[in-house]
Amino acid sequence: MLSTDLHIHTSCSKDGESSVQQVLSAAIAAGLDAIAITDHDTMQGYKIARELDTSVLVIPGVEISTREGHVIALGIETAPNHGQPVLDTIKMVQDKGGITILPHPFHRYRHGAALKCPESFRISDAIEVYNSRYVIPHANQRAMRLAKKLDKPAVAGSDAHNARFVGYGRTLIDAEKNIEDILQAIKEGKTQPAGRKTPIRTYTKQSLRNSWRKIRGRIHQ
Ligand SMILES: [Zn+2]
Ligand SMILES: [Zn+2]
Repeated sequence: MLSTDLHIHTSCSKDGESSVQQVLSAAIAAGLDAIAITDHDTMQGYKIARELDTSVLVIPGVEISTREGHVIALGIETAPNHGQPVLDTIKMVQDKGGITILPHPFHRYRHGAALKCPESFRISDAIEVYNSRYVIPHANQRAMRLAKKLDKPAVAGSDAHNARFVGYGRTLIDAEKNIEDILQAIKEGKTQPAGRKTPIRTYTKQSLRNSWRKIRGRIHQ
């Protein structure tokens, strides 16, 4: 099983606080095998990362701002234009051979696309059922329940905007450590989401170590 974090921002996002190098170092320190750098509407973070010498596998990624909310694209080399209808954006990514994750689908203040366009939940390749930045859990639970009902592959992401939170949302993936295999495994639902909340105040190292928890009720096994 690979341990991955599929939703991370760097300083290439306007609201990102850590450099690409800091994010990569944090990923290695957190014991991750692979990460996706998913900056807002730019692939610059990923492009910087792939030039650096690192043991963590970097999956090409971007978080696209569509008309109805956010969509993560993995496995493409060019970001689609932002501001397009969400369904068109998802289809465009899939046509280019990439896959989509619907992040924080029901988070009202975080641009959850499923609130305005329920169909996006159905056609996205995978659903982020756990986002570590959201402190009220009902939106995560709602995503988890619907993903289970519709048999959608479920993933977790930290949505870290600072390197110290990299790995707070993890997806365990039953795949070989290469991009093609990982994307295929996500599509096939060979994923297991796990994670913990981003703390409002900084936790001690000891409490960090002790407080890992798996999401109750595995979605896919
Ligand atoms: Zn987002
Ligand atoms: Zn994000």
